[in-house]
Amino acid sequence: MVSRQTRRMPAPCRLDPEGWFPDGTVGTAARSEMKHAAGLCRTLCSIQEECLKVAMAAEGDADAKNRFGVFGGLTPGQRADLSRQRRAAQQGLAA
Ligand code: SF4
Repeated sequence: MVSRQTRRMPAPCRLDPEGWFPDGTVGTAARSEMKHAAGLCRTLCSIQEECLKVAMAAEGDADAKNRFGVFGGLTPGQRADLSRQRRAAQQGLAA
């Protein structure tokens, strides 16, 4: 259950959006910034699960190069990995 205080907290990405969408998504510094931001999503955001669900639905089967920024506590590469894992699991169930 989400407490009243938690519900009133703004999502961390609204306080420092640049950490979630750093310039140059392929550089080491940008990757480091996104990993830090993803950690804040997972520890501080009260809507992390919903955010991830919406991002995964919007991005479909895109590879990491076609996903941008941090959503739901995952970097673009992590969301691409999750998407591949889910597809593999579905194919395994269908076989
Ligand atoms: S989970 Fe989504 S809404 Fe919450 S801080 Fe991360 S990007 Fe923002």
